[in-house]
Amino acid sequence: RRIVPTVAGSHRRTTTDGLPTTVSADLGVPTVHRTVTDYANFDHGATTPALTAVAEAAERAQRRYGSVHRGAGYASRVTTGWFEAARDEVANFVGARPDDEVIFTRNTTDALRLLAHCLPEGTQVFAWESAHHAALLPWRDAGTTRLPVPNSAQHAIELLRSALAQSPAGDRLVVITGACNVTGEIWPVAELVAVAKEFGARTVLDGAQYAPHVAIDLAALDVDWIAFSGHKLYAPYGAGVLAGRSDWLDAAGPYLPAGGATARVSHDGTRWQTGPARHEGGTPNAVGAIAIAAACATLRAYRASIGAHESHLYSRLRSGLAAIDGVRVVEVLGDRPNVGVVTFTVDGYDPSLVSQVLADEDAIAVRDGRFCAHLLCDAAVGVGASAVRASLGLATTGEHVDRLVAAVRRLVEHGP
Ligand code: PLP
Repeated sequence: RRIVPTVAGSHRRTTTDGLPTTVSADLGVPTVHRTVTDYANFDHGATTPALTAVAEAAERAQRRYGSVHRGAGYASRVTTGWFEAARDEVANFVGARPDDEVIFTRNTTDALRLLAHCLPEGTQVFAWESAHHAALLPWRDAGTTRLPVPNSAQHAIELLRSALAQSPAGDRLVVITGACNVTGEIWPVAELVAVAKEFGARTVLDGAQYAPHVAIDLAALDVDWIAFSGHKLYAPYGAGVLAGRSDWLDAAGPYLPAGGATARVSHDGTRWQTGPARHEGGTPNAVGAIAIAAACATLRAYRASIGAHESHLYSRLRSGLAAIDGVRVVEVLGDRPNVGVVTFTVDGYDPSLVSQVLADEDAIAVRDGRFCAHLLCDAAVGVGASAVRASLGLATTGEHVDRLVAAVRRLVEHGP
């Protein structure tokens, strides 16, 4: 086996006869990525390669591009229709209630910032310190209660219950991570929502890692809002979603006071739109929205097989790595269903060296660092310490998993 660097800086493995090896995934969801290389991408937690359906939808939208809600021309009407149909598809994907709103944003960070902008004055926010910074930092410091990093699902529930019990009545928002970007653990969403509702608190789900892997039903879960990113959902960068209850969104001033958000501007003042337009000032990223909708439709169609595929590969990856002496798998809640992330350290090796060896020797892409979750890493990895994250997705194959486990074992047994 030889590793041949390509001009793009990635690697292409070849068999001994010099022909590129083609790895076909077990699942059968067509992705652009999988057909062109056998680079083992274990960085789906950061960003995902486009699905074929997404690339086609984006390409079609780009070719047919007209202004959205701003023109009477044919292309403009077609694009506007696709953009609004995308909103409907996303509403379907998240199981929205009839009066929920779907607002297109730039990403999860932007979606949560938008919600923070819309909170009624005096809202108390509750967030665990284990949250991704995008879900931990957008809230006003005054009025935000940070719950410590829990050590089990039950502990997370108890921390919330006791904080809510001690807080004064009024508007309250609980920020729940659907799935942790460091450990991949799925949080006990339904149980946490039930506790929040007991105290009349609202909830927002950070769905950045959850939405690509788990079916979402806002109505059934009784979650008030969800935020997620297109680029983690096999769609392009630059488009994300905030979906959920319209009342706080319509009562707040516009997030981006600009064209599109206005109903009437006069010398007597400005009247703003209600509904999604209120917060989507400026020309929207229609291609991004259309691409997200294509991803949602594809993921919905393949949900059951995706779940089976990913949980099978996750078990193989986790047990393979955990069986290697000196490898420590990072856990926070422990014993939870997982979206397919294994973060680990290797005794005696700097995580950045581990990830470089994997990339250079075995054409495996992982991420090392502190994953925009510094307080979680302090608590679960070590103060100031980093780790290596392997996150799988639709393009992952059994061969990729075996290659990663074998590479880490080789590193531990024989050195770099
Ligand atoms: N929340 C979680 C759990 C994440 O993993 C991420 C990204 O890694 C974000 C929020 C922020 O997403 P984005 O960078 O797309 O805004």
